Amino acid sequence: MEAIPLAEGDLRWVFPDLVEVDPVLAVLRQAATRVERLAGHLGRPGAGLVFDHLPGAPYAGLSALAEFEEVAFRVHVALPRDPHRNVPRSPPPWQVEGEISVRCDAIRDCGRHEIETVESAHGTPLDAANGVLSVAGWLFDRGTAEPHGSWRRRDVLSRHR
Ligand SMILES: [Zn+2]
Repeated sequence: MEAIPLAEGDLRWVFPDLVEVDPVLAVLRQAATRVERLAGHLGRPGAGLVFDHLPGAPYAGLSALAEFEEVAFRVHVALPRDPHRNVPRSPPPWQVEGEISVRCDAIRDCGRHEIETVESAHGTPLDAANGVLSVAGWLFDRGTAEPHGSWRRRDVLSRHR
């Protein structure tokens, strides 16, 4: 998987039939700025929105991450997935997800533990972009409202077996 900055990738990886690129791009840039502001607040500059692109694939997801001391704030938009084959299928709806998670602290590392999540489905590219913007705002609000140490303290899976 390759991380490609928003400005260097192709929005049609996420929105295959996109005609009017500019309005969607404008909203996504605002979303990227919100996550970058959160990253700045946390003291670790972020990369904004990036495509998670498999070289050669006709599709990609788009995500932004702000991370500090093993706590991650992430927003992600992608094509819907075929529930049986677990591969992307034709939109709509686009799936937008927001996640605040902490790094697993168990002996058998399972990856990440989710603390708070949101998700929504969207019928048009512009609606999906606005969903990303809304989640980016939620991440910023949560990340600046809560003391940073509280996320780890709220991890109910902490040191699980
Ligand atoms: Zn774990």
